[in-house]
Amino acid sequence: MAERIQRVMVITAHPDDSEFGAGGTVAKLVREGKQVTYCIVTNGDKGSADRSMTPERLVKIREEEQRNAARALGVETVDFLGFPDCELEDTRESRMAITAAIRRHRPDLVITQNPHRTRNLGGSHRDHRIAAGIALDCVYPLARDHMAFPELLAQGLEPHKVKEVHLMWWENPEVLVDISETIDLKIKALACHVSQIKDMAAVEKRVRERGAELGKPKGYGYAETFDRIVIDR
Ligand SMILES: [Zn+2]
Repeated sequence: MAERIQRVMVITAHPDDSEFGAGGTVAKLVREGKQVTYCIVTNGDKGSADRSMTPERLVKIREEEQRNAARALGVETVDFLGFPDCELEDTRESRMAITAAIRRHRPDLVITQNPHRTRNLGGSHRDHRIAAGIALDCVYPLARDHMAFPELLAQGLEPHKVKEVHLMWWENPEVLVDISETIDLKIKALACHVSQIKDMAAVEKRVRERGAELGKPKGYGYAETFDRIVIDR
C-alpha cells in the first residue's frame, strides 16, 4: 500500500462484516504500520436464532466479540454507531453519523461493502448495501464540504478529504490483496464472533476456499478482493 495511505477506516453494517470481507487485508495494513479504525454502523441486534436471546443482551455480546476480533487483527479503535440491525435507512441522521466518524478519524483510505445487490444474497444484505451507499456519499461530498452538516463543524469536526475507497468485491475485482500471510489471523478474528458462528470448522473451510479462489488469478495462496475508487488521482 502506497505511502500516501496512512490512516484507514473500515465502515461496515454489522459486527463481523469487516472480518469476513477484509480481515486479512486489515491485518496486513496493521503490519505495514497503518492506523486502522472500525466504524460499525448497526448494533447487530437481530443476529440470533436463539429464542431466549434478547436484543439488549445480543448488542453487548456482539460489541464484545467485535472488540476481540478487532484486537486480534491489531485494530484498537472501534466506533459503534448503534443503528438498529436490518432497519438501516439512508437518512440525514445516518449520513451525519458516518460523516462525523470520517471527520473524527480522518482516513486516507475507506474500506466498505458493496453498495450493489449481487447473486450473493448474504453479501447483499440490505444493511450492507445501504451502509456502503451512505459511506460513499459521506466520503464525497459530505465529509469534504464544510457547509454539509454545520453542527459537525460547530463540534470541531473539520472537513476531510478521503483519498481512496475500496469496496468489497468478488466479481471482476480491480484490487487483489495477497493475504497468504494473514489468513490465519483472519480466521482467528472470525472465531471471536462466537454468537454468529455455529460451526467454525465449516466457516474456516468456506473462507479458505473462497480466499484461494480469489487469489488464483495472481497466483496468491489466499486473497481478498476489492473494487477501487481513487479520489485524488
Ligand atoms: Zn453483515
